[in-house]
Amino acid sequence: MSNKPVNVSEACTGCSVCVTACPFGAITITNNKAEINDACRVCGACEPICPVKAITLKKSDTPQNFADWRGVLVYAEQHDGKVHPVAYELLGKGKELATTLEEPIYAVVIGSGLTKAAEELIKRGANKVLVYDHTVLATYRDDPYSQILTEATRELKPSIFLIGATSIGRTLGPRVAAKLRTGLTADCTGLDIDQETRLLLQTRPAYGGNIMATIYTQNSRPQMATVRYKVMTEAQPDPSRNGEIVNKPVDPARIQDRVKVLAFEAAKEQVNIVDADIVVSGGKGLGEPKGFELVKQLADALGGAVGASRPTVDEGWIGYRHQVGLSGRTVRPKLYLACGISGSVQHQAGMKTSDVIIAINKDKEAPICRISTLAAVGDLYEVVPRLITRIKEQKTRG
Ligand code: FAD
Ligand code: SF4
Ligand code: SF4
Repeated sequence: MSNKPVNVSEACTGCSVCVTACPFGAITITNNKAEINDACRVCGACEPICPVKAITLKKSDTPQNFADWRGVLVYAEQHDGKVHPVAYELLGKGKELATTLEEPIYAVVIGSGLTKAAEELIKRGANKVLVYDHTVLATYRDDPYSQILTEATRELKPSIFLIGATSIGRTLGPRVAAKLRTGLTADCTGLDIDQETRLLLQTRPAYGGNIMATIYTQNSRPQMATVRYKVMTEAQPDPSRNGEIVNKPVDPARIQDRVKVLAFEAAKEQVNIVDADIVVSGGKGLGEPKGFELVKQLADALGGAVGASRPTVDEGWIGYRHQVGLSGRTVRPKLYLACGISGSVQHQAGMKTSDVIIAINKDKEAPICRISTLAAVGDLYEVVPRLITRIKEQKTRG
């Protein structure tokens, strides 16, 4: 028998049933016999469906040894040389995991003009930072960033690799995982170490947030996860911390890139509910799109941003960038005001860690009232205008 993990025996009749069953397009029929190519991920889908039992998966009898994969690696996303706060959250969580494992914590930063960013990553807890600093890397592109990050990971050989589940992280993470031929759990909201196996327990919401699935990566390294922004607690800077900053050479001639950046234009509508200290959100209880004008007035009076529940976005009352929740954005403001929002599990998934939650709702039994610090039970069209008047009065009084 060959050493390949999936074998096809002489019994194969070339019927092609396995070809359609393989999710990775790893089977071809040559001379009336199935052949497995390098795209095979040993998922096992083909084995039970073969009508003549010609496919066998080799079970690994010796447990794989990953002893040389050590440490926690954090990808430090940056924009114009400024580290995205999600990287500090990953350092906060990563430090916890590394301490449990008694292993080091690393960071990788890619871009242009990164001296301050690298120093900040050390102050926030990284033991070692790999820096890829070159003008050719000033703008994010999938090809060069994933190529460099894959090379950095192969060099550092971390046991755990964390990336923020931002728009960039969500496209970069899977590309790097595929190049490294390892698994990735997307959009995690919880990370822990299994005391017995020392595996990374990667928890994420599943089935619309109704259950939490805990996933682990047993047969490959690194154990990769993208992690939701604003869920973990940021590592605070410690000016006395020291660490190793390694400036890696970047050779533009070696960089593969299928994209040419002609210009960069920032989005016109700059809605940033994620970083706002105060978020005032509106839901179906507004009754009509115009209701958001009132929500905006309250947000303006408080100096906050406008959020929204999903049905209001689905109905086109307000843009998607305002949506809070499982399929929208996660926010963690100091104050979250929910106007006419029932507080479904999917909505709560994006706001329940806010410091103070105030609900304005006609129904005192609404789930949002149960998780709120304060619930104003009444018609929002009566409560909100009074609230705006009081805030304005307070401001004029100084
Ligand atoms: P409703 O549930 O209809 O609540 C309206 C509330 O307004 C009620 O509590 C009512 O008492 C109150 N009200 C009515 N009139 C007034 C008034 N005049 N004054 C005061 N209160 C009033 N939802 C999200 O929000 N974000 C998500 O990211 C999200 N993702 C989802 C993902 C999946 C896979 C699924 C299946 C669902 C998702 N949902 C999400 C939808 C979610 O299940 C709920 O349907 C949604 O959150 C309900 O929105 P709502 O609270 O605005 O509306
Ligand atoms: Fe051969 Fe079985 Fe695949 Fe049919 S399903 S082609 S018999 S390996
Ligand atoms: Fe395709 Fe999975 Fe079978 Fe490999 S084990 S050939 S990936 S179905």
